[in-house]
Amino acid sequence: MRTNPPVLAVHGGAGNWSEEMLEKAKLELAKALERGYEEFRRGSSLEAVVEAVAYMEDSGVFNAGVGAVPTERGTRRTDAGVMLGPGLKVGAVGNTRLKNPIRAALRVLQEGRHVLIVSEGAEEVSGSPSQGVFDTVGAVALDKDGTLAAATSTGGIAGKREGRIGDSPIPGAGFYATYESASSCTGVGEYIMRVLPAKEVDILISMGFDAESAALAVTRKMTRLFGDNTFGIIVLDKYGNFGYAFNTRAMPRGLKDSVRTLVEGP
Ligand code: ASP
Repeated sequence: MRTNPPVLAVHGGAGNWSEEMLEKAKLELAKALERGYEEFRRGSSLEAVVEAVAYMEDSGVFNAGVGAVPTERGTRRTDAGVMLGPGLKVGAVGNTRLKNPIRAALRVLQEGRHVLIVSEGAEEVSGSPSQGVFDTVGAVALDKDGTLAAATSTGGIAGKREGRIGDSPIPGAGFYATYESASSCTGVGEYIMRVLPAKEVDILISMGFDAESAALAVTRKMTRLFGDNTFGIIVLDKYGNFGYAFNTRAMPRGLKDSVRTLVEGP
């Protein structure tokens, strides 16, 4: 789908969504789009994806931030990553107690010294209204200067072992951004980390695929290798083409550009 930059797209995770929760998620996605889009006035795609994701971390409707699903010991641990196309700048955090791990990931990116920090933050995940069925969140953006950015944040998989980290904070797996493409993935981290679909989409796009066919191609591959109910992705390319695909029952998603706002699901 062709869009009119600046453009921001978000997803609320691929999963087995009920109709009722899907409606709640779509309302929150619309607000996250509004919140992130404001950033284009003063900032770039990097701020847009971070603020959209931070909004979703705060909402409690998604498996991220305050809505993070519990581990097998009943604790909550969050992972997030963010990447800016120009300079391949990237920052990520894993296994944190932070309610806004995306902001910590942004600090890692800005500092520029490391890519992934695994830490126990000072700020505890609080609130925890999670009902255990929701999913990871992500955002991709392209600003007027042609800068692409991607961000993903998650509470991981319900009942995960303490210390488990999935794809979400791993560049090329749960998120990726270059001069060519920006992607955010969702699904079973243990499968996603073996394929690196966000990286694969970038390769396909640099070979001439459009965002839609690249998203479909990697999703078909994930389905072939690991079956249904394993994966979802949103993708933007440098021309503002948007694509998405998923092999689960639903993946609520939304897009806002200079002329329209769309929020959809399943
Ligand atoms: N990909 C996330 C993880 O494995 C979970 C999800 O997308 O729902 O941590």
